[in-house]
Amino acid sequence: MDMKQKLMRTASDMRALSYAPYSHFTVGAALLGKDGKIYTGCNVENAGYGPTICAERTAFVKAVSEGCREFLMIAIAGGKEQEDCADLCAPCGVCRQVMREFCDPDSFLILMGRDGEIHAERTLSELLPMSFGPDDLKGRNIL
Ligand SMILES: [Zn+2]
Repeated sequence: MDMKQKLMRTASDMRALSYAPYSHFTVGAALLGKDGKIYTGCNVENAGYGPTICAERTAFVKAVSEGCREFLMIAIAGGKEQEDCADLCAPCGVCRQVMREFCDPDSFLILMGRDGEIHAERTLSELLPMSFGPDDLKGRNIL
């Protein structure tokens, strides 16, 4: 099994740990750090709705809190519990921006699928074009 498949298998398995009593939309993520470690996440909902956090951000926060700030790719698997709906679950806008904070937009890969199968693969710059990132605060793009 190659690394992409391993990540998607892990992301798919992480759906079982999702806490989604309100939406019943379970998501798992597996993030590969440049340190070679896989950081996992699942969505964790909240009765207050606003505090809900996505699987992707859970994985990023876990990684950064453990000292990893550079990443190669992430696999995301999601859908309604016990239903055959979407073949893939794309990251929400907030998660794309969090990825932009730590990842090179042109090389960071986002694998999307279900049940261990990859159905789409995009770079971060494809999913978040003309993005705002850390370099912009340095005035790089000021005319
Ligand atoms: Zn999200």
